[in-house]
Amino acid sequence: MEQALALAKDIGFSHAALLDPSALEARQDVRAMCITGKCRMYGKSWSCPPACGSLEQCASRMKRYNTGIIVQTTALMQDEFDYESVKETEKKHKQMFMTLTRQMRLLHGNCLPLGAGACTLCRTCTYPDRPCRFPEKRFSSMEAYGLLVSDVCLKSGLQYYYGPKTLTFTSCILMKEGIAQ
Ligand code: SF4
Repeated sequence: MEQALALAKDIGFSHAALLDPSALEARQDVRAMCITGKCRMYGKSWSCPPACGSLEQCASRMKRYNTGIIVQTTALMQDEFDYESVKETEKKHKQMFMTLTRQMRLLHGNCLPLGAGACTLCRTCTYPDRPCRFPEKRFSSMEAYGLLVSDVCLKSGLQYYYGPKTLTFTSCILMKEGIAQ
């Protein structure tokens, strides 16, 4: 895990910590937010509900892993309408998370990456008419799996909010400690 944390820092994440597995609770209230949430991606992507699986299926997948790391990208915004920084930070976070996932799969084999927001690998998702173009590369968000991100952060010793004019994207990778797969 120390190696994973060092790698996360090398890649450029602002914060990284060991994930507390007890925080991996698939919550119905979080899943419900997907349906009514402002991201408006429910039913629009293979990475999002309902295509990513029922809450029970997501919980069962997470139970296969006993450890993990949580990573964050924090940026300073000029003001709350600084949409450019929001877009740039999201893009940077997703790119770094893809790099981290690739490296962790090389080092640890099977991992479960859970990102921030819907999959944006393709300009337009093929859902629901055609199969996903990159099933091996796509990942769902922490929220899609019913995780309350603030709770996972706090239980894992990370802040969720870093103060006025800051913006933070959070993702995690679940792994099986000590088991080469
Ligand atoms: S890889 Fe493309 S097709 Fe698959 S979930 Fe992501 S955006 Fe959709």
